[in-house]
This record gives sequence, C-alpha cells and structure tokens, in this order.
Amino acid sequence: MIIQLCGLSGAGKTTIARNVQRKAAADGTPIEIIDGDIYRESLCRDLGFSREDRCENIRRLGFVASRLSNYGIISIISAINPYESIRQELAISYPHVKTVFIDCTVEKLIARDTKGLYKRALLPEGHPDKLNNLTGINDPFETPVQPDLHLHTDNQSIAACTNLFLQFINRSLALQQAQYASVASN
Ligand code: ADP
Repeated sequence: MIIQLCGLSGAGKTTIARNVQRKAAADGTPIEIIDGDIYRESLCRDLGFSREDRCENIRRLGFVASRLSNYGIISIISAINPYESIRQELAISYPHVKTVFIDCTVEKLIARDTKGLYKRALLPEGHPDKLNNLTGINDPFETPVQPDLHLHTDNQSIAACTNLFLQFINRSLALQQAQYASVASN
C-alpha cells in the first residue's frame, strides 16, 4: 500500500507519520516514510519548487514507494504534494494508493511556525530573507477533492490523529486482504 500525504508545511505530516511508523512497528507492520525533504537532498536534488518540479518530485517518490510496496512495506510519502492532478496521477499509476490530507489552518500554522518559514514568507517584498514559494502563502495548495482520510491537526491532538491514521491503515489492509481472498476463490 502507498499512502500519499498532502498538507502545508508544519501541518504535522512528519510528526504523524513517525508516530504511526513507531506504533505499527510494535505490531510487526513495516512502514517506510519517504520524506520529501530528505529525498530533495539526494534523488530529487535537481528539482526546485515550480509546479512542474513539485509534480516530478511526487512522481519520483511515488516510484520509490511502488518498489517498496511490492514487498509488502507500507510506504508513506510525506511531502506537501499541493496539486490535485499529480495526486490523481499517482493514485491511478499504482495499485492500493491512498490519499491522506493532513489539514491545518494557515492561521494556526503561522502561530506554530516551527521552522520559521511563515515568518520569512510574510516579510515585505524585496526583503533579502523573503521566501517566495511557501505553499499556502505565496504558492498554491489545491485542497484534495476526495481524500481517503482527512485529519485536522488544528483541533485533533497528535495522539488522536495517530490513532485515526492507524485505524485507517488497518481498515485498508483488511479490505485489501478481502479483495485478494475474493480473487483467489474465483
Ligand atoms: P510537516 O511535516 O507537515 O511539515 P511537522 O510534523 O514537521 O510538519 O511539524 C508539525 C508541528 O506541529 C510539530 O511541532 C508538532 O509537534 C506540532 N503539532 C501540534 N499539534 C499537532 C497534531 N495534532 N498533529 C501533528 N503535529 C502537531
């Protein structure tokens, strides 16, 4: 199974994915987190933040996820993943792809600003430290049309989001197994 996350910077993608990974490992369920920030330092080093590059980034992460997923490893792609067209493309490119929207209001993110990015994006035009492509401030984020799971990290605790995510994975795995069983019996 491939789980593509989407959500603004600081929404909680990494935090929730790591919690889910740790809890699932305790039950013997292997999860790999394919973290966009990490891959941008290696496989995706040549990519910037234009629409084309952000989409190509997701295409490459999706390919890596698909290889792992073939071996039964649940692959969570953790990236902002702001465009609906590439999310849909990924969803039809491989079997068992789920989309999880890690949602948080921009107001809350500006207040959290754990990486100081929002402060930089909100600097006046022409300021040398200004960020010009922060998703949700001065770069687009297309709300997913029909995510398989929608978490609201502005009003649900980390523990609650982690549990909802784990329940979602267990439900999806059970459905997947039922599908395989039905194909095998026909
Ligand atoms: P992202 O990977 O989406 O950029 P991070 O996981 O790196 O986001 O950062 C999210 C920040 O928000 C962390 O400091 C985390 O502790 C905090 N946070 C507060 N509430 C939540 C929540 N319900 N779910 C996830 N993170 C939360």
